[in-house]
Amino acid sequence: MDGNQINGKKVTEELLVAKGYKKYHGADLDIYYHKDICAHIGNCVRGNPNVFEVGRRPWIIADNGGVEDDIRVINSCPSGALKYIRKDEPACK
Ligand code: SF4
Repeated sequence: MDGNQINGKKVTEELLVAKGYKKYHGADLDIYYHKDICAHIGNCVRGNPNVFEVGRRPWIIADNGGVEDDIRVINSCPSGALKYIRKDEPACK
């Protein structure tokens, strides 16, 4: 699943927050998570347990992984509960 899109459109922070996603700030990439969409399949924690650790607060620390690796793991989320916005790309409305 494309972690920077919803229904084929590039996501924005405004859209994700309006839909109920929570933001987990990173230096080069922000990760967004929606607990009600999460199917608890665990691809994220298996993909990079340094970034995604269920027992920790916050449970997502974007900067514990590289940008490309974070994107790889987010794209492996089958439910759409994880999204991302890169900081090094111009915002697209
Ligand atoms: S990969 Fe997605 S659906 Fe699976 S546990 Fe992580 S956030 Fe939830």
